[in-house]
Amino acid sequence: MSSRRDFIQKATLGSVAAAISGTGFVACKESQQPDSKEPPSAVFPLALATWDFGAKANDEAWKILSTGGSALDAVVAGVGVIEADPKNTTVGIGGAPDRDGRVTLDACVMAPDGRCGAVCALEHIVHPAQVARAVMEKTPHAIIVGVGALEFALSQGFKKENLLTEESRLAWEAWKKTSKYEPKINVELHDTIGMITIDQRGDIAGCCTTSGLAYKMRGRVGDSPIIGAGLFVDNEIGAATATGLGEAVIRAVGSFLVVELMRHGRTPQEACEEAVSRVMKKYQDYMEIQVGFVAVNKQGQIGAYSIQSGFNYALLTGSDKGVYDAKYKVQAKEE
Ligand code: ASP
Repeated sequence: MSSRRDFIQKATLGSVAAAISGTGFVACKESQQPDSKEPPSAVFPLALATWDFGAKANDEAWKILSTGGSALDAVVAGVGVIEADPKNTTVGIGGAPDRDGRVTLDACVMAPDGRCGAVCALEHIVHPAQVARAVMEKTPHAIIVGVGALEFALSQGFKKENLLTEESRLAWEAWKKTSKYEPKINVELHDTIGMITIDQRGDIAGCCTTSGLAYKMRGRVGDSPIIGAGLFVDNEIGAATATGLGEAVIRAVGSFLVVELMRHGRTPQEACEEAVSRVMKKYQDYMEIQVGFVAVNKQGQIGAYSIQSGFNYALLTGSDKGVYDAKYKVQAKEE
């Protein structure tokens, strides 16, 4: 399993090589892919989440799933563990701020019956996914943003908190010294938890929650809270979620695309691969970015694919618990 840090190191080496050799990346044929396990098939219940830190979310969700609870309860509880972890600098409290030093969070949730809710650029609330769920359940709307989202959260009893940890503040101060205050597209400075759960009844729910791109412009919203981009659940077919550069995922309406491809007969793996190709076609500088999808269909087959090496996901079922490297299109040059 290659870690996120390995990926960043390879990407950095890749960009040094890029200056010398052109792209700094090599196309990766199927036969050159790492010796990862075939995407596992699973039985229900099931929890699936982006990145290795998703394993903690899966464990939390499992407490609910294994005792017959709903996919929706499980997915919101699962991501809640990551949102509450101040050491995670890409989700919830401790998330990297925008370039003005404000932590603004994006999240969405989808229920098996097709309902959805989202919040964008929400400040001061540790659990944006819970607020997104409240938008879905307690308002006639699907998305509430900014100050309105904060007012709504407070009206629902959520507590206002400072989300900028000392560690994140120091990293932001350091960034300001070297950045010329420019918001940059940078593969190192973002990650998201996208999570899908299937309960014992076979019902599917999903959630995506993030602090988004570090040092972004104020008000920037990524793919994560956009239904169909960062997350899509169709209880008849399956679900998909995305991580990586939101601007690129939005162009392809990536997660909806994955689910639609599954509807038309593709396996989750094939669907993720096609969606990554679509993203790459629409985003010329794809060598500079990362985008990855994970998906599961109604039969419990899993798929995952990313533009570059380094993307992994966590899976938990009654018979399988692990973090798996996703297959990928291109590999950062070793040197
Ligand atoms: N998709 C997120 C965003 O663009 C960040 C990430 O997943 O890395 O805000």
